[in-house]
Amino acid sequence: MVSDRTILQGSIALNRFSRLVQLLESNQGNVQTRLEFKKIEKQALIVGEASVEVSLICQACMKMLKYPMEIGFQQILVNSNLALSQLDQGQDGLVVEGELVELVDLIEDELIISLPMVSRHGEAECESEVELHKTSDEDVRDTHRPFAALSRMHEDTDN
Ligand SMILES: [Zn+2]
Repeated sequence: MVSDRTILQGSIALNRFSRLVQLLESNQGNVQTRLEFKKIEKQALIVGEASVEVSLICQACMKMLKYPMEIGFQQILVNSNLALSQLDQGQDGLVVEGELVELVDLIEDELIISLPMVSRHGEAECESEVELHKTSDEDVRDTHRPFAALSRMHEDTDN
């Protein structure tokens, strides 16, 4: 595909990304993707783009959150770990066993590392306000009873 300068474009069902969907609330949907294979100087490259809307849980209100993702990546194809270690800093390499690159794996890895560490609605869409106030009230109450935890500890040791 590299020597032919192939461009692959299409959509892949989200449920084929088995590792990614384990991190999501739904496996419904499609990943739109475009992969271009080319050769620059002596290096074989995959230049890829992928976009998908995934379902996550908002960490503030614990409700479903639709999270649109759009990623772009570039991978240099190498045929050994040695060649991989010789790439310049800032270059991403992919070791290809034989001739076959598992494209779903490649896109999946890129999507997984692009997931947010903490998913949250925007302020306008989030239903968390009531719960946030509740939490802060509890915090205030706790600071007024600094020995509450300590006295519980004593009870435990007495028994
Ligand atoms: Zn929310």
